[in-house]
Amino acid sequence: MAARAVGLGKVYGSGQTRVTALGAVDVEFARGGFAAIMGPSGSGKSTLMHCMAGLDTATGGQAFIGATEITALNDKALTRLRRDRIGFIFQAFNLLPTLTALENVTLPGDIAGRRPDRAWLDQVIDTVGLRDRLAHRPSELSGGQQQRVACARALAGRPELIFADEPTGNLDSRAGAEMLAFLRRSVDELAQTIVMVTHDPAAAAHADRVLFLADGAIVDELTDPTADAVRERMKNLEHRPGASAGAEA
Ligand code: ADP
Repeated sequence: MAARAVGLGKVYGSGQTRVTALGAVDVEFARGGFAAIMGPSGSGKSTLMHCMAGLDTATGGQAFIGATEITALNDKALTRLRRDRIGFIFQAFNLLPTLTALENVTLPGDIAGRRPDRAWLDQVIDTVGLRDRLAHRPSELSGGQQQRVACARALAGRPELIFADEPTGNLDSRAGAEMLAFLRRSVDELAQTIVMVTHDPAAAAHADRVLFLADGAIVDELTDPTADAVRERMKNLEHRPGASAGAEA
């Protein structure tokens, strides 16, 4: 297993303002798999990802990366685990403007004092198609190219697991499709493990498996999804009794 949650819960606030963002969620993510997490706005997608990635503290249950229980780690150990074992791709690319594309890709390794694995780095750069843009700064790159740099940065350290949060959210449809193809290829060719939060059925269709959240619980699952099948399940979720109005745009 790359990651696992056992009875994972998150409650915000107390008394009248108490919100259960995540019930007791049990889920496993296999190594070398590409999973998508979907659900209406406010269903707990980000909370699940953040608690499983050690970016937020759960209020109940356990989360594991490999065999390590992250819910039992102190801040320092958690920071190190995130740095050494997890890759992140966010909607905002979070690139440093004064560094070149290549420097942005190698920055996390440089900070961690890791010696770069040149052969691996070359393979990652070719997989995401950045070879002829390595000396450019982010301002000289298109949105799609910047997201490729963010993708290469996440892959460069060979993390056990990549968490991607709406990785195509800021891209036009062509750049988004390219990005998803890169993620797919990193799973197929580089054996990367990916967990991706998205609200886009077409994006989710690139995964091997789609988990559907509603009101902080996993309520449905699809394997080998198509965009149409995902859309259909989402429609059911948004129209189920008690569903909050105002599904995500
Ligand atoms: P999603 O990612 O599916 O849109 P979230 O995980 O962001 O959903 O949110 C799940 C629930 O938790 C929502 O009801 C949201 O309003 C609530 N929530 C999220 N973050 C906070 C917070 N910092 N304080 C209080 N409530 C929060």
